[in-house]
Amino acid sequence: MDHLPIFLDVNGKRTLVVGSGVIAARKADLLLRAGSDLTIVAPELGEELSRLAESYDFSHKTGSLSAKDLAACIIAFGCSQDDSINQVLCELAEAAGVMVNVSDKTESCDFIMPAVVDRTPLLIAISSGGTSPLLVRMLKARFETTIPAAYGRLAEFAGSYRDKIKALIPNLTRRRRFWEAVVSGPVAEHLFSSQLEQAELLIDSQLQAAAVAGDKPPVGEVYLVGTGPGDPDLLTFRALRLMQQADVVLYDRLIGEGILNLVRRDAERIYVGKLKNNHAVSQEEIGHMLIRLAQDGKRVLRLKGGDPFVFGRGGEEIEALSENDIAFQVIPGVTAAVGCASYAGIPLTHRDHAQACVFVTGHEKDGKLNLNWKSLIQPRQTVVIYMGLSSLEAITDGFIANGANPATPAAIIENGTRAGQRVITGTLESLPDKTLDAGVKSPALVIVGSVVTLRDKLSWFADKS
Ligand code: SAH
Repeated sequence: MDHLPIFLDVNGKRTLVVGSGVIAARKADLLLRAGSDLTIVAPELGEELSRLAESYDFSHKTGSLSAKDLAACIIAFGCSQDDSINQVLCELAEAAGVMVNVSDKTESCDFIMPAVVDRTPLLIAISSGGTSPLLVRMLKARFETTIPAAYGRLAEFAGSYRDKIKALIPNLTRRRRFWEAVVSGPVAEHLFSSQLEQAELLIDSQLQAAAVAGDKPPVGEVYLVGTGPGDPDLLTFRALRLMQQADVVLYDRLIGEGILNLVRRDAERIYVGKLKNNHAVSQEEIGHMLIRLAQDGKRVLRLKGGDPFVFGRGGEEIEALSENDIAFQVIPGVTAAVGCASYAGIPLTHRDHAQACVFVTGHEKDGKLNLNWKSLIQPRQTVVIYMGLSSLEAITDGFIANGANPATPAAIIENGTRAGQRVITGTLESLPDKTLDAGVKSPALVIVGSVVTLRDKLSWFADKS
């Protein structure tokens, strides 16, 4: 290790920045945010420093640098464009025993400044020891996108409970397990959603339970996560976070490899889709599994294609959970209509074509389509049909028999948003044959309405599939 990483308390302590440009302003900003008593030595304040002066108090010395400026200073920064001034600073600082940092001159530095990801009170400092600023910038960008802003809130919350938890759970191992559950479980999730009161209620009840539970397993939970139509890039950050902390995952046919690969590597995987003999695990069986696994103390991830509450039977699953007092979270996902339409270049609404959009299921019950044709056949309305592939002909016939123009544009999107997406366009009259000829397979989504014609105009999208 070439440097000792430390976090310095500069609050109320004297610091010095020599220079007036952007770099000087950047250092000054950090020092002032950390509460330092700062002096700037420069003939005049540049634009950025002048702007800082509107929000913070600091001293500005226009005369030349002298030994007195370093008195009682704890650190100093040389950011002058004039090397000789930085050199004078280094000499004075050495004489005064003050540590100095000169921008872009690692050899003249007593300390170097890391790149900082600020989630106060949580701070992540990154340094390559001056060898690769580009790598540092890349890593910083990665942390900035993967560490939610709310982690600061979580750290602050943890700090406020630290002493209480130490007193109530004296055993170190059990305390560590408790903290793990707090920072990666529902308490953190509540904080991420700005639900401070719920987080407090939950942690207090968990604390009480932990204090009396002895060595019993922790309480489990179910995450009902919408994964979108297939492209892993359409996952939400929250979905990804929960996918990476689950102990066991239940998934079915709609969940592609790309998404499964993002689930925590060592999580147990249970397939609950249709099996080879075409026997699907029933909704009831899935409900029982979720309950049993959660009661065993597991964090159970139930992955759902699209959105859990859009033709996803999510409502039924959480009903069973709440009846059994199992904690759960529902995470929305991009529903197939929205994802497929976007990737196929078909806007679901458009000022010149449709002011309304209806989602329906084409799933037949007891061999019969149960659709309200009157409400579907309306001017300036787009109709999106989920699960309509096997009954496509009955659907288009139904439209026409109930008065729709056979020439109404219609499209079917197979494998929307995934590799191998296919889009077939036609009319209510022609779509069933075209679909049959193309050998379209599930999952496929049907869109009916004049917005379908826009696909050809929006050739930028059309080229994508
Ligand atoms: N909850 C899901 C829908 C489940 S019903 C959602 O919100 O999207 C399953 C139906 O969704 C499929 O029969 C198909 O009509 C549609 N679907 C889901 N993913 C799809 C995809 N990638 N491409 C085309 N249709 C899809």
